[in-house]
Amino acid sequence: MRAIRFEREGGPRTVQVPDPAPGPDEVLVRVLASGVCRTDLHILDAIAAGRRPPIVPGHEIAGRVAKIGSDVYTVAVGDAVGVHFEQPCGACRHCRRKRTNLCRSGHTLGFDAPGGYAEYVTAKQSTLLVLPPSLEPVLAAPLACSGATAYHAIMTVGRAEEGDVVVVLGAGGVGLSAVQVARAQQARVLAIDVREAARTAARGAGAEASCAPEETDAALRALAGDNGADLVVDFVGSARTLALGKSILGDGGRLVAVAEGEGTDEGIPVTGADLVVGGKALLGSYSSTMADFARAIGLAEAGLLRPVVTRRARLAEASDVLRDLRAGTFVGRAVLEPGPP
Ligand SMILES: [Zn+2]
Ligand SMILES: [Zn+2]
Repeated sequence: MRAIRFEREGGPRTVQVPDPAPGPDEVLVRVLASGVCRTDLHILDAIAAGRRPPIVPGHEIAGRVAKIGSDVYTVAVGDAVGVHFEQPCGACRHCRRKRTNLCRSGHTLGFDAPGGYAEYVTAKQSTLLVLPPSLEPVLAAPLACSGATAYHAIMTVGRAEEGDVVVVLGAGGVGLSAVQVARAQQARVLAIDVREAARTAARGAGAEASCAPEETDAALRALAGDNGADLVVDFVGSARTLALGKSILGDGGRLVAVAEGEGTDEGIPVTGADLVVGGKALLGSYSSTMADFARAIGLAEAGLLRPVVTRRARLAEASDVLRDLRAGTFVGRAVLEPGPP
């Protein structure tokens, strides 16, 4: 089959690799759509720098079941499925506690196991969800990372409630999904981004207001009065955004960090009083579980969550798409379509 591989030299390259064969507990999926995530750029850079081995990337996958292993009972050949990239071991302490996102004994498609920039991918049967017929693969694929990650941050960790004032820092692919997840909960959303186009997209996704970082105080006051934010979700992870997020928390407010920050280990000072006075929380949200993925698909089926897919490209165009993503020349998600075999 054809695949795109991130190589140590030469970056993304189209290669011919043997068709993967599913193990007894695995499913072979013909990839119909594979989302391009900013994390793919970080993986590409790490491989170029020799910090990771070469890999077929892609962790936002939707497709059709092509073949099933002998022990598979969850899906049938021909089913349209969404694939979660986390392939947890199912046996460790975190997995037994349903925190499969924290499993360190499994694999992750597109990170340390072959991913979706390919005609086929194999995944554990427990990591597939049959898609509702109304959900196109191109819109379903980004739900696996962008949608489920946003759901985990806003709901599972952030516990957004009706009437909450939710501030989304960074309105990229995941941020725009987060705006919609918060809106689905009837929260009021302020989106903050340095890019005008991202701010416009955030309002289109349901944010009540959007502004540049330096306009935050006035914009938040217009929305929340003196109460501050109930929930701030930081999709950038820089010292600046963390400090901004911390500074606008109201009483009972939660700051949820989703991004590790790009190439910086700069942090922010936090005192006991920062947390205790007003009962505030600083939290981290890592990846997502199948439960989050299922909820994201449910919201999509109900018309409440629609990944902002602004670009559809062939597999061979992966290199161009990644270059443009790095340059920031498009807002929202790009999706690769490997096409029929
Ligand atoms: Zn991702
Ligand atoms: Zn595990």
